[in-house]
Parts: sequence; C-alpha cells; structure tokens
Amino acid sequence: MQLIDGKATAAAIKKEIAEEVERIVAAGGKRPHLAAVLVGHDGGSETYVRNKVLACEACGFESTLIRYEDDVTEAELLACVDRLNHHDEVDGFIVQLPLPAHISEQKIIEAIDYRKDVDGFHPINVGRMAIGLPCFISATPKGILELLQRYHIETTGRKCVILGRSNIVGKPMAQLMMQKLYGNATVTVCHSQSTDLKKEAREADILIAAVGSPAFVTADMVKPGAVVIDVGTTRVPDASRPKGFRLQGDVDFEQVAPLCSYITPVPGGVGPMTICMLMMNTLAAGKKEIYA
Ligand code: NAP
Repeated sequence: MQLIDGKATAAAIKKEIAEEVERIVAAGGKRPHLAAVLVGHDGGSETYVRNKVLACEACGFESTLIRYEDDVTEAELLACVDRLNHHDEVDGFIVQLPLPAHISEQKIIEAIDYRKDVDGFHPINVGRMAIGLPCFISATPKGILELLQRYHIETTGRKCVILGRSNIVGKPMAQLMMQKLYGNATVTVCHSQSTDLKKEAREADILIAAVGSPAFVTADMVKPGAVVIDVGTTRVPDASRPKGFRLQGDVDFEQVAPLCSYITPVPGGVGPMTICMLMMNTLAAGKKEIYA
C-alpha cells in the first residue's frame, strides 16, 4: 500500500507556482490577485479562508479578504460581486460557502463573472467542463485528478466508483473521470438512494468517497488492490486535541488501508490539494490562460 501524500504534493505544486509567478514578475508581468469574500464567523469557513490567504502568500500572489457580518443583505453581496467583476486588479475571486440562509448561493454564484470564477462553480464553467472545453475546474475534483496523475495511477479503462453526487465533488468528479481528456474511465455514481452501494464499491478499481459520513467505507466495500480516494472531512469531537475535534474521513482508514494499492489519508490527502488547485486556477486567471 502506498500513501498518497497530498500535503507534500501540494507543497511541491505551490513551489512550482511561486517560481512561475517570480518569472512573470521578473518579465514585467503582474502578480495574480485573488480576492475572497467571507460572510459571518463560521469556524470552518474562517479556517478555509485563512488557509487560502496563506496559500496566496506562499505562491507570491496578491490577496484581498473582504468580510461581511451574517446580516449582510443579498443585494449588498451582489453589489460586492459586481465590484469584483469589474475590478481590473483582481484576476479571480471566491465567495466562501456556505452563505446564511437568507442569501441565495445560486444567485451569488451566477452573478460572478465566469472568467473570474476560480472556484469553477458558475454554470458556464460547469457546462464547459462537462463538454471538455477549457474552463476553471472546481478545486477538489481537479486536485484529485492531479494526485492520480502525479502518482502515475492509470485510470483509462478502469472502473471508477464515486460515492456522493454533490455539485462540488461527486458530479464534477464523475464528469472528469469519464472524459477521454481526463480520467477516461468507466464511471458509476452512488448516492443515498443507491440500492446496492456496497456491491458497486467492491467492483471499483478506483473508489472515490465524498459522502461526509465518518468511516462510511469499510473493508468489505473495497476490492483488494483498489485505489481509494477519501474526500470526506467531518469534524468529530476529540477532547485530546487542542481544538476539541479532529478531522475524520469517509474511509475507515485502519481497516481499508492494508487492502489498497494507494490511499489518501485524512488529513493530508485531498484537503491540501483543494486549496492548491484554487491557486492553480488563480495563476491561470492571472495569465488569462483560459479566458482572454
Ligand atoms: P454533500 O453535498 O452533503 O453530498 C453528500 C453526498 O453523499 C450526497 O450525494 C448524498 O446523497 C451522499 N450520501 C450521504 N449519505 C449517504 C449514505 N448513507 N449512503 C450513500 N450516499 C450518501 O457533501 P459534499 O459537499 O460533496 O462533501 C462530502 C464530504 O467531502 C464532506 O465530508 C465534506 O466536508 C468533504 N469535502 C472535502 C473537501 C476537501 O477539500 N477535502 C472539499 C469538499 C468537500 P444524496 O444526493 O442522495 O443526498
């Protein structure tokens, strides 16, 4: 069994990005600039945004953090999106989700100029991804593809089973894994209404779990020699940790790891790659590589 080290891979990619940024700047170009909009004080969102700002520093990007309280109106947030859409210095931006219930996330996502949508959530980017056109690919599935590629894991013609069908992980992952250009695999997607999920999972050469249920994937669901990618990150109470919780993946790591050819740990697997891919998208936005 080989551990897929997302932390080390992400660090190497950030170094590559930082080197490229310095080359761009030395040649008289502009540093890529990412803006992040954070609403409220949700602990998870605060951490994600802080880590995104730190990643920008590591990559040599400019970054701007725009904060609103929970009671910001949808109209105020839409006005902020509009300003960022027209801000010449900002190459790409994100609005950290989730948003408070009185704000339509879909409305906000659709208001973002798709050419600055480095999260890849805008329907234009999602649609272009689905038909294999250049676009911003959302960070988590892009990070998983990058890990598979960097570990030289063959995906062509293999059976890939994805657990979960969310818009941010399961669905784009399935699209990417089935496409000739990316995974070129045979793809099955399972969800809460799948009748025999265990059987489907057991047939997977590559099993990608994005359910959000700790230790959901047990040893009897994994074919010996399979590649297992654990996207799940659930905070479970843990009094022995300084923060009072630890992150738990969707895979019962202790049981499953010995069976696998490759497996991602939680933490340190898919998570660090997600922010790193946001940086890759921001670099592409800065270079106007996808949309002029
Ligand atoms: P989500 O929107 O809640 O979707 C979960 C999916 O799992 C749904 O499709 C749901 O089915 C399915 N599901 C839930 N319980 C199930 C069960 N008992 N049996 C079969 N299917 C079940 O979650 P998400 O946003 O995709 O995130 C999934 C996990 O990945 C979470 O732990 C999240 O924190 C983590 N995540 C990590 C990263 C990272 O960077 N590492 C990024 C994004 C998400 P239905 O559609 O039928 O409801």
